[in-house]
Amino acid sequence: GLYLDRIEALNPALNALISVDRERTLAEARAADELRARNAAGALAGVPLIHKDIFCQQGWKSSCGSRMLDNFVSPYDATVVERCRAAGLVTLGRANMDEFAMGSSNENSWYGPVKNPWDIRAIPGGSSGGSAAAVAARMAPVATATDTGGSIRQPSSHCGITGIKPTYGTVSRFGMVAFASSLDQGGVMAQTAEDCALMLNVMAGFDPRDSTSLERETEDYTRDLEKPLDGLRVGLPREYFADGLSADVARVVDEAVAELRKLGAVVVDISLPNTELSIPAYYVIAPAEASSNLSRFDGVRYGHRAAEYSDLVDMYEKTRAEGFGAEVKRRIMVGTYVLSHGYYDAYYLKAQKIRRLVANDFKAAFAQCDVILGPVAPTAAFDLGQMSDDPVQMYLSDIYTLSVNLAGLPGMSVPAGFDGKGRPVGLQIIGNYFGEAKMLNVAHRFQ
Ligand code: GLN
Repeated sequence: GLYLDRIEALNPALNALISVDRERTLAEARAADELRARNAAGALAGVPLIHKDIFCQQGWKSSCGSRMLDNFVSPYDATVVERCRAAGLVTLGRANMDEFAMGSSNENSWYGPVKNPWDIRAIPGGSSGGSAAAVAARMAPVATATDTGGSIRQPSSHCGITGIKPTYGTVSRFGMVAFASSLDQGGVMAQTAEDCALMLNVMAGFDPRDSTSLERETEDYTRDLEKPLDGLRVGLPREYFADGLSADVARVVDEAVAELRKLGAVVVDISLPNTELSIPAYYVIAPAEASSNLSRFDGVRYGHRAAEYSDLVDMYEKTRAEGFGAEVKRRIMVGTYVLSHGYYDAYYLKAQKIRRLVANDFKAAFAQCDVILGPVAPTAAFDLGQMSDDPVQMYLSDIYTLSVNLAGLPGMSVPAGFDGKGRPVGLQIIGNYFGEAKMLNVAHRFQ
């Protein structure tokens, strides 16, 4: 009740949620009470949360921020939703997002932009901007999110909260609307590393319905939270502190590193030489996969269908012209182009080779250090509208987050300070494969 009232009061100004359904929430709360009475739920029974609108959820509109799915009420639960339900978590609503998770500012949503709760002139980041703004504004203690090229870490940084994207394959993609399947990974945002760890305990684990889900022993992500940091080797990639990084962000990151040094961490200079190439590689691979994934939206089986058309092809064309926004269309065009006969070798294949080089960079770096630290984005949150007519400029701001997804590594953002305008700045922590507990250990020091 308390959270629902707060959502009602704040959402008109922030636009963080696309759907709220008080009756449904209260019904879920009663179901959670029953689980608790039977001792059938874990530590998080009764805790309210918000799901990013990308996760299919039975009985809820699951729009993915798109007009294409504005009329889509999911008949089934994504694995993430199912696991949260089984743990007794209660859905407060569904978070706004960039359409099909394409964007870094949340300005690409069919439902309008989300505002940053720290300063409503600023973007909250994207694509999981609704999830981040909701947690920052205390509309929910936790929210689910996804990260294909930074969409958990960057909005967490801009909204001053903690967010974690686990190793690729840790959280099931079943029922999560596909953007770029080889990069997409679900994760979570919260106020603290401890809350993120508790949520990962619920969300992570093998799922036979996701072909890239990893079959591993379950682990307790809270296990190392209190571990001392003595001797921990933290790598600082030279390329992350070069031209393009704002002085404000550099200062906050430097201060955070100094703090960890005091706690016993040892700083190691490392190099990730292919960092710059991660931008063109990502912006070839992600649109290529997206152009294929989005072909399912044809107006035939579900979602939007144009009202008037002359024949089947006309129906496809009108449906897709109306249903998709400008950024999504841009990605479909780029993706189709780089996959086309004659250009495949020049673009797609080349990008795949760069992807391997980026992964090798990390492999070499992790021979020298335990975690990698750096900025999440070159600046704190920029103003709404500032970059909306310059997509390439927006793409360039993803420089510090994309390579983690290309390599499939885990990454997180933890609040570390503020820029000169009082806008939050996060510290990025990158772990080796399955290094979540170690990253959370470091992040826990900042809370
Ligand atoms: N900003 C990146 C993009 O637009 C990342 C999005 C994401 O991680 N979903 O593709």
